[in-house]
Order: sequence, then structure tokens, then C-alpha cells
Amino acid sequence: MSSIRRVLVTGGAGFLGSHLCDRLVADSHDVICLDNFFTSQKSNIIHLLGKPNFELIRHDVTHPIWLEVDEIYNLACPAAPGHYQYNPIKTMKTSVMGAINVLGMAKRCRAKVLQASTSEVYGDPEVHPQPESYRGSVNTIGPRACYDEGKRAAETLFFDYHRCHGVNIRLVRIFNTYGPRMHPFDGRVVSNFIRQALRNEDITIFGDGTQTRSFCYVDDLIDVMISMMNGPDEFVGPLNIGNPGEFTIKKLAETIVELTGAGSKLVYKEALEDDPMQRRPDISLAGERFGWTPGIELREGLGRTIEYFRSIDFDAFRAPTPNY
Ligand code: NAD
Ligand code: UDP
Repeated sequence: MSSIRRVLVTGGAGFLGSHLCDRLVADSHDVICLDNFFTSQKSNIIHLLGKPNFELIRHDVTHPIWLEVDEIYNLACPAAPGHYQYNPIKTMKTSVMGAINVLGMAKRCRAKVLQASTSEVYGDPEVHPQPESYRGSVNTIGPRACYDEGKRAAETLFFDYHRCHGVNIRLVRIFNTYGPRMHPFDGRVVSNFIRQALRNEDITIFGDGTQTRSFCYVDDLIDVMISMMNGPDEFVGPLNIGNPGEFTIKKLAETIVELTGAGSKLVYKEALEDDPMQRRPDISLAGERFGWTPGIELREGLGRTIEYFRSIDFDAFRAPTPNY
């Protein structure tokens, strides 16, 4: 049997999706990228257009679509807080109805389907670092709930389709990931700080900057996401994927100022509601299962990301939300 597969990537024009499409196209798979371009733009995948094993479909995952595929990576969902809070009801629909639609497709095609879940299912965690067994601490009625609860409901749907219909699923929980092709106006901390530094603007720290995040470079993340898809059917997850190196937001700001040589100063703004105070993945399971540990250190990954941000024209990007 040929190892070439028909692979659907929903959200394939986004930051992570476009890197995943690159890898799958390079591996000779027949790749369908589906996206509604809510938080992305064609420039992320323009180099793939015209390749015989790449196809682009403009479509919204909240609507059913009939395709014949062997594998589905379900990434379609706004991921930056500013993006997902812009239209929270739509965010919930995208997570839930998107999951139902890809699961229905997987059931009909007997395809394997991987869900891009998130560390946000752990909310503002009381357990640190977070193992997969931790059930989380999410405010169901706060401004982040549309995303957190949408992703939690999608996880439930994946496991129920697996139990009830034998759908071949994979579930990964992604922790903060960064790299080239992040939207420069997505409001996420890495893109915000780099954009601000390159323009010698103030670096905006929300709160006192002691909150922590653990940042994974995109190439490391795509490696393990593909390993999970290709791994044994018995291991469906959930699997934490991310880099356990933990930094305060203040330290991140200082590092970006240093690496860019910017004259920016750090300014402190009001803390965001429900902003998680600490976040670090326990990735021992990914190590046991796939021998995976991320290889790219923060300074190196930031260097590559800064290089990308220097190469783009910010004016060519439409800001999808006013949250930058
Ligand atoms: P992104 O915003 O760059 O990509 C999301 C893509 O989905 C975009 O291209 C967007 O246009 C598309 N999209 C949104 N709603 C859609 C809809 N209704 N129909 C079709 N397409 C739609 O974000 P990303 O960082 O690449 O995230 C990709 C996935 O990974 C998301 O599901 C996100 O929740 C998950 N994730 C990412 C991170 C991270 O740090 N990057 C962390 C945790 C989870
Ligand atoms: N943050 C910040 N300044 C910014 C953007 C973000 O201080 O300009 C902080 C934010 O409050 C949070 C952290 O950086 O504590 C990570 O935010 P991001 O939006 O990147 O992702 P999150 O992990 O919160 O989903």
C-alpha cells in the first residue's frame, strides 16, 4: 500500500497550519488546506499554491463539507486571546461544530483525525507543571471561556465519537508556540513584543510581568504533532506538547529588547481578566511515547522569529481585531 495519504488540514493557512502543510507537502502527501482566513492570509501558503499535491479550499468549518480523505488535522480555530474574544459565540461554534463536522467526515471516510487542543483546557492551573491527568481550573463564564470551554467540549466530542463509533482519534494539547508566520497583530505576547520592539515602541506588559509561560518553537511542535498522528492507534492521547522552559513575561520582554537592540521601554498595563498566572507543560508522556523533547531554545527561536518579522511589511497585514 502506498504511504502517500490524502490529508486535510483545517486552519491550514494559519500560523501552525501553514507549517504543517509545508511538512506534509514535502513528504509527498496529497494535502487539502481548508481555511476561512479569519485570522490568516494567503501569504502564509502562497508558496504552496500551484504545487500538484496542494489544494486550497476557502470554507468555514462550522458548515459541513464532503471530502474524501485519509487523515484530518483539525486546527481551525482562532487561537490568540484577542482573536477568539472578538466574536466569542463564533469561537465556540468553530470549536464545537467544527469538531462535529470533522468527526462526521472521519467516521464516513474511516479517516484518522487529530484535534489541536490547548493548554487552556487547564485554565489558571493549581497544579504545576500540568500533566495530562490534571482536569483544570476554568472559569466557565469569563472572557476566555468561549475558547477554553469550546476546546474542552471538542475533546469530549472526540472521545465520544471514538467510544461510540470507533473513530480513530488523536488528541494533543498544545502549549504556547511561536515562530515565523504568527500574525503580527494577533496580540499574542511574542508577536506583540517583537512588533513593538522593531518599531521602538513601548513594550506593553499586562499585570506585573511575573506571570509565566513556556514557549515552544514551531518546528519542534510540528515534529511531535506528526509523530502523534503516525503513532499507534491504541494511543489516542491526550498528549501535552510544548517546551517546558518557563519564563516570566517580564523576562521575555527583556530578552526581546536585547535581541532586537531596541530602544523600547517596558510599560505596565492593567492585568487581563482570568489571565493564567503560570503555565508549564509536563511533557514526560511525549518523551516516553515518541522520544520527543523540543530542541530549540527560546533565544534561538526568538532570533528566527525576529528575522521573519523584520522581513515582512506590517502594512500588508489586515488586523482582524482591534486587540493589538
Ligand atoms: P491561527 O489563528 O494562526 O490559525 C487558525 C486558523 O484557523 C487561521 O488560519 C484561521 O483563519 C482559521 N479559522 C478560524 N476559524 C475558522 C473557521 N470557522 N473555519 C475555517 N477556518 C477557520 O492560530 P494557530 O496558532 O496556528 O493555532 C492553530 C490551532 O492550534 C488552533 O486550533 C489553536 O487553538 C491551537 N493551539 C495553538 C497554540 C499556539 O500557541 N499557537 C496553542 C494552543 C492551541
Ligand atoms: N501579554 C502581555 N503583553 C502583551 C500581550 C500579552 O503582557 O502585549 C501577557 C498576557 O497577559 C499573558 C501572556 O503575556 O499573561 C501570554 O499572552 P498570550 O496572549 O500570548 O497567550 P495566552 O497564553 O495568555 O493565551
